Amino acid sequence: MIESVLITSGPTIEPIDPVRFLSNHSSGKTGFFIAEEAKKRGIKKIIFITGPSSFIPGNVDVIKVKTALEMREQVLNYYKNIDLVIMAAAVSDYTSAKIYPEKIKKRKDTLTLKLIKNPDILSELGERKNKQILVGFAAETENIFENGQTKFEKKNLDLLVLNEISESNRAFDVDENQVYFLSGKGIKANKRMDKSEIAELLWDEIFNIRKK
Ligand code: C5P
Repeated sequence: MIESVLITSGPTIEPIDPVRFLSNHSSGKTGFFIAEEAKKRGIKKIIFITGPSSFIPGNVDVIKVKTALEMREQVLNYYKNIDLVIMAAAVSDYTSAKIYPEKIKKRKDTLTLKLIKNPDILSELGERKNKQILVGFAAETENIFENGQTKFEKKNLDLLVLNEISESNRAFDVDENQVYFLSGKGIKANKRMDKSEIAELLWDEIFNIRKK
């Protein structure tokens, strides 16, 4: 029985100085529709941890975060007692090594920022997996199935939602996407469709692969 789900959504933003940050084009639409569909499927407890986004579902527990480190803290906080985690957030892989206390002035023609790696939240969840079902996302630009399979195994996932980012398949900040489901049962291809329909198929797939 899946009674509780933790969904992460949106981008994270990593501050550089008081007015600037590093981020990505994630809108949070995919996570939003996954949460809406969770309500329709009767999931009792829905925890929605989101980076800055205007797509916030109603009638679920919403926790707003900014940075990857804040998201990690909240996710780990709830992880132990959750049946299913869907990591739809586009977590920034890197963060600024330093948060400058004052706005960086434009002086020289070039400016070098030092970035350091953020912790991989999903990998940590994979390492600590107990009874939880883990669903991850991956956006790849090359060797998508090979890279997807590696991610699926390395992060100890039950399901990976995989998409190829290309000119013909834009995924960020648009209404549609074309994804593959990669699980222990192999790879399932889906047509390009609305993100709300992807959320429906994703829930079908989760109920297919869920542990007894
Ligand atoms: O390795 P990659 O970033 O492509 O993996 C994407 C998956 O891992 C997504 O489900 C994303 O939410 C998660 N992730 C994470 N922590 C990071 C980077 C990605 O949990 N620092």
